[in-house]
Amino acid sequence: MNHQQFETWILQENDLNQEQQRELHLHLKGCSQCQGFYQAVHQLDHLFKIAPEPTPAPNFSARWMGRIEHQERRRNRLILGITLVVITLATIILLSVVSLELRSAVDFFPQMLLELVTFLANGIVFFNQISNILSPLVRVGAKYLSPLWLYAITFGLSGITGAWIITSLHARSLQKELNS
Ligand SMILES: [Zn+2]
Repeated sequence: MNHQQFETWILQENDLNQEQQRELHLHLKGCSQCQGFYQAVHQLDHLFKIAPEPTPAPNFSARWMGRIEHQERRRNRLILGITLVVITLATIILLSVVSLELRSAVDFFPQMLLELVTFLANGIVFFNQISNILSPLVRVGAKYLSPLWLYAITFGLSGITGAWIITSLHARSLQKELNS
């Protein structure tokens, strides 16, 4: 019998019958090569038995969850901050435009009133068109977006709408100045 057969037996020692075990140990006594292999296998086996199982550090998942929550809170604060900045800017721009228009409104009040009504009507039409386009998107998006994001997007859109209103208002007054 060759060495390879004995090496196989060494690896499957627990499955051997008594006759095979006797034959193996008889061979090991007279063969240093197989004896070396036998010892190496048993040392490896011992190492695997005494090696500690790799377990995660205590509270690992708790710490991980805490970190995720911390990042989420920071992100939410950022969104809220951006939203507040947009609202503040839009309010400042609108107020300054309104005050400017009010000052000139003293001079041509009837025209201003007419213009304001036209402008408001245009704004409502524009807003309706925007909401017609956006509402299906928002309905789909609401499933994936958090309420805070929707809140931020809504205010962002109102900021854009405000900017559009201001631009059209200025273009109108500029045209009027050129005409007069
Ligand atoms: Zn041998």
